Amino acid sequence: MKHSTMFGAIIALVVGIGVSIALGRTLYVEESRAIELEFRSDIDQMSAVFEREVLLNLEILYALKEAVSVLPEMNSERFGTMTRRILERSPAIQAFAWVPVVRREDVPAFVGEQRKEFVNFMIRETSTAGLREAGARDWYVPVQFIEPLSENRAALGFDLASEQSRLAALLKARDTGNMAATAGIRLVQEPENQRGFLVFAPLYRSAPDSLHPGSALQHYGFINGVFRIGELVDLAIGDEFSGDILFQVYDRSGQENTLLFSSGNPMDEGWEAEGRYTSAVFDIGGREWVVEALPSATFIGDRRSQFPLFVAMAGITLACLIVSYFVISVRKNAELTEAKTELERISFTDALTGLANRRHFDIYLEREYRRAIRQGSALSLVMIDIDHFKEYNDEYGHPAGDACLKKVADCLRQVVHRPADLVARYGGEEFSIVLPNTETPKEFGEFCRRAVEALGIPHKASSAANVVTISVGISTLTPETWQQNLTDLLHRADEALYQAKETGRNWVCEA
Ligand code: GH3
Ligand code: MG
Ligand code: MG
Repeated sequence: MKHSTMFGAIIALVVGIGVSIALGRTLYVEESRAIELEFRSDIDQMSAVFEREVLLNLEILYALKEAVSVLPEMNSERFGTMTRRILERSPAIQAFAWVPVVRREDVPAFVGEQRKEFVNFMIRETSTAGLREAGARDWYVPVQFIEPLSENRAALGFDLASEQSRLAALLKARDTGNMAATAGIRLVQEPENQRGFLVFAPLYRSAPDSLHPGSALQHYGFINGVFRIGELVDLAIGDEFSGDILFQVYDRSGQENTLLFSSGNPMDEGWEAEGRYTSAVFDIGGREWVVEALPSATFIGDRRSQFPLFVAMAGITLACLIVSYFVISVRKNAELTEAKTELERISFTDALTGLANRRHFDIYLEREYRRAIRQGSALSLVMIDIDHFKEYNDEYGHPAGDACLKKVADCLRQVVHRPADLVARYGGEEFSIVLPNTETPKEFGEFCRRAVEALGIPHKASSAANVVTISVGISTLTPETWQQNLTDLLHRADEALYQAKETGRNWVCEA
């Protein structure tokens, strides 16, 4: 096979494989995009449900605040009655607390009053060593009543204004008149690391609308809700966790980035970090929350199909098949062409001498005859017959006769110089030469005769000479003799050959 064909086949194969891989890759990327979109839409939906759940719980606090603000006075029993039912039905609410603002001068009376019910009551603050009695300040915001009491007793008396994050939310609620949430905090009443957040609903002696901005005079306290984020997530989307989504909630207000909840550890194996998706920010009590999520390898694996791989493999197989088919056909074609050439060679060649055979001679002579007439040129024909060849065979044997025929044939092949001249084995020990564009072939005939004689092949039985000789008959077709046909031309050459034999052989005659 030609180098260029092989090169072309390799290029086609490489291109075919390349295109198949590219197609498979494109499909893979498309599929990945579709999976990513599905994941994002799942997370958007989950985060919307979660947001609604949180807001719903804040609504409960708001309703409670509305209810207590019309009461003249609050005590522990009343607070318990108002909140117990709600708390039973709201698992995400850790506690409701009643937190008044107590000025320093009112502290002894306030603490005295509380001790009637809780003997060890005192206003406390956090320190590195735990809770301790609060230091001297102008005012305090201690937890006065809290429900359910049994689980939240530790928070009783805790001054919410003593801790920065809570204080910030308190002031914000007081000054805006709206509910305000803290950042995610560790709850004092919870021993383990349960994250929660507090929301403060401010209470005023008169409607907040009539407030002078910044004035705390008419403001007397807060209703405080304590919420557990884990429970909120569980309530909202607990059923949807099948272990293939890592769900996280962050507080991203201002410079902060506090992790409020995580359904698992993102460092664990099996989470696809590059699939991380962050939902839109939503507002919870004046704070900015976002949901961040990671898909698991299983989430992606379950949604992936074998289609891109199948397309790539099918493409590669097809490319291989097409190129193989092409290569095989080219090879087959080349073999056929070779066989055809060989067949043509065989059918036009004489097996013994390798000269053109009689068939080739006839076709060639006919073609040259027509060309000569068309072009108005001369055409000569030379007929050659080995002298006393029967005797040669008799004397030296048939194989020697064959060898002699070959030598004479080779000799004649060499005396011819022009590409258009054709030497043929006419039959037996006879040869013929077609000489297109030749008007005076006598000299050529003589040249042939002398060349064979010069071979010096011994021929004891010849009466013409003691070596093998030939007799030559020549005829020529010129524009003047065009009326003659091919048969005439052949006949005249034959006649001339007969004359040469008659003359004594080893002779050239022209008709
Ligand atoms: P002339 O000089 O008159 O041509 O006599 P000649 O013996 O050559 O003529 P003839 O026609 O009587 O004999 C031709 C001989 O050529 C007869 C045949 O055995 C021999 N011959 C023909 N073809 C072959 C061949 O292929 N091989 C051999 N060895 N001999 C051949
Ligand atoms: Mg003969
Ligand atoms: Mg002869």
